[in-house]
Amino acid sequence: MKWFSSLIGFLWRTFWRLVWFAFFLLLCAVALLFYFQKEAAPQILQTMFFQAQQVINGQQALDMGASLETLEQLSTDTVDMSAEGRWPTNAATVYIETQDPTFRSAYETAIANWNATGAFTFTLVDDASQADIIATEMNDGQTQAAGEASSSTNTLTNYLVAVTVKLNRFYLLNPAYGYSMERIIHTAEHELGHAIGLGHEDHHTSVMESAGSHNGIQQTDIDAVRALYATQ
Ligand SMILES: [Zn+2]
Repeated sequence: MKWFSSLIGFLWRTFWRLVWFAFFLLLCAVALLFYFQKEAAPQILQTMFFQAQQVINGQQALDMGASLETLEQLSTDTVDMSAEGRWPTNAATVYIETQDPTFRSAYETAIANWNATGAFTFTLVDDASQADIIATEMNDGQTQAAGEASSSTNTLTNYLVAVTVKLNRFYLLNPAYGYSMERIIHTAEHELGHAIGLGHEDHHTSVMESAGSHNGIQQTDIDAVRALYATQ
């Protein structure tokens, strides 16, 4: 039985070596995270702890693989739009409220791309109080969304009265999430699509797909805007 007890001893030592090795790897990972991400690191850790906590509490039945997948396949946004809202005509004014040059440029390009379709016309204004739509930013790692759109509607007319769209710098401007300028513009086009009155479109290739922001404005989207504003 001597061989048996030495086998147990060997397994026990191996087990603890692995535990310490895993701990060491975790420390290295955290150190690397802080080295490469600097000021974003505490927030990334916070998000990871928050997600781990949710898994432990059973609020989200995801394994680690699914959790990482979620981070790669971030939803485009969270939407708080009243159903069926639209503007009285196919035109609205926009005030861009961000000092960030990347976001400003993404919004400007998105506006130019929507205007080029001829289906809807955005006009930029210099005064927030004169704007139908406020295009701004947020910095939120607790949400799993790259953007946000919220609106208020006149319940008598069903017309939109105010919309605020946001781009989330926590994901879009963090190289760790790999957003190209093209995908940031698609996200801005998507949020402005909500501001026009469009909902999500996951059955056809569309700028309004609910995750990934891989598509720009498609013919499907132009047709959807024309249908929404067919009566003026
Ligand atoms: Zn959306």
